[in-house]
Amino acid sequence: MTVLRKNLIDGEWLGEAGSRNINPSNTNDVVGEYASAGPEEAKQAIAAAKAAFPAWSRSGPLARHAVLKKTSDEIMARKDEIGRSLAREEGKTLAEGVGETIRAAQIFDFFAGETLRLSGEMVPSVRPGVGVEMTREGVGVVGIITPWNFPIAIPAWKIAPALAYGNTIVFKPAELVPESAWTIVDILHRAGLPKGVLNLVMGKGSVVGQAMLDSPDVNAISFTGSVGTGKRVAAASIEHMRKFQLEMGGKNPLVVLDDADLAVAVDCAINGAYFSTGQRCTASSRLIVTEGIHDRFVDAVKERLDKLVIGDALDAKTQIGPVVDQTQLKQDEDYIAIGRQEGAELAFGGERLERGTPGFYLRPALFLGSTNEMRISREEIFGPVANVIRVKDYDEALSVANDTPFGLTSGICTTSLKHATHFKRNSEAGMVMVNLPTAGVDFHVPFGGRKGSSYGPREQGSYAMEFYTTVKTAYTFAG
Ligand code: ADP
Repeated sequence: MTVLRKNLIDGEWLGEAGSRNINPSNTNDVVGEYASAGPEEAKQAIAAAKAAFPAWSRSGPLARHAVLKKTSDEIMARKDEIGRSLAREEGKTLAEGVGETIRAAQIFDFFAGETLRLSGEMVPSVRPGVGVEMTREGVGVVGIITPWNFPIAIPAWKIAPALAYGNTIVFKPAELVPESAWTIVDILHRAGLPKGVLNLVMGKGSVVGQAMLDSPDVNAISFTGSVGTGKRVAAASIEHMRKFQLEMGGKNPLVVLDDADLAVAVDCAINGAYFSTGQRCTASSRLIVTEGIHDRFVDAVKERLDKLVIGDALDAKTQIGPVVDQTQLKQDEDYIAIGRQEGAELAFGGERLERGTPGFYLRPALFLGSTNEMRISREEIFGPVANVIRVKDYDEALSVANDTPFGLTSGICTTSLKHATHFKRNSEAGMVMVNLPTAGVDFHVPFGGRKGSSYGPREQGSYAMEFYTTVKTAYTFAG
């Protein structure tokens, strides 16, 4: 028996069965059935959010704190069940699914606290007798459009600050992961949100997402997804003169220098490139390695790759789950073919694997002998595929690391304070890691990138306030 999950519009669960989601570890397993909204439902959701904004934006910190704290507590109490369900629909491992669920709980807890910390400024005017106040207010109706690779953490890090700062929401999750989205909305709804404050519209990006982009009543859009869709969000948002924030791709470099601790470098590469099946915008897809350590590093990475357990996401022994779906699997395989055609050497993996159940299993792939000009070095693959680029020294490594249209994260493995410091200062990325994987960030500090990776203010931590509020400067002459 599959369950039917409906959309939440103006406090009511509405809709008929429209789509199913499939477990990528076992395509015979249907996780659930979901209502699929059309443009009319999107319009109703936007109207409900618009109507709910005045009261919610004036609700005060305690009401918002209560909902966010209660949500955090329930997510944490149900972490194993929600984490398992996430792993079942997305294909990341149980440990990753539970870890991501805990992260979502921490994010709601953080923003519950932020509701009580909102402050303003007061300064004397240049005109005697006049006072000037600078305060922050909610922006209005926020459209939240999310991808499939972090089905609960990304919605959490957009929904929590949007609510904390008094906005109302129309939330459109990715088609592949409706169960995690529905779960988080159900918890928030039961935690006591007034009707219309949070609306869930599951459905196609080209239909529901597009209806959000085209609406003059959506005052801000926070988007995470592909570069192509991000550009559409940007163009439509300029047309409506609304705020927007984009998180898109990455082609993140991990530099490994001759003086690196080999064990640390191998850990960083395996984790950064292959965990979560390489399906992270922060994945280390370019491994830039200096000559003196190249062969030792490659041998050690291959040895570790050979030992990784690839299988059903719900099996506790699995370290790498399946690829999310057939389309993504084809994209990964196409890029593996492109890498070979371009002359890179496929030194490990890249082939499909049979497991006990029909699923999208791919052995993690490692290319050697690649150049930074190849397509596999320039385009985001979004799978368990990484390539090693051999360089002469630190200077060449830095220049190759920065030679990319993206700029989300970067990493360096070195024991040299001089090189680590120089890299932190000169890497053209929004987040820089020293002796750590390029993926894996804290929830209470800003997240975001440069160049083609991101646009607009940072997400997460107290920096999230920049996007989810607008500044008001008020002047008072009291005589
Ligand atoms: P990915 O490759 O990660 O699936 P997409 O950019 O296609 O990246 O999807 C990210 C999110 O954007 C999803 O929720 C998707 O449904 C949504 N989306 C896709 N097309 C549009 C569109 N034309 N307008 C608004 N949202 C869209």
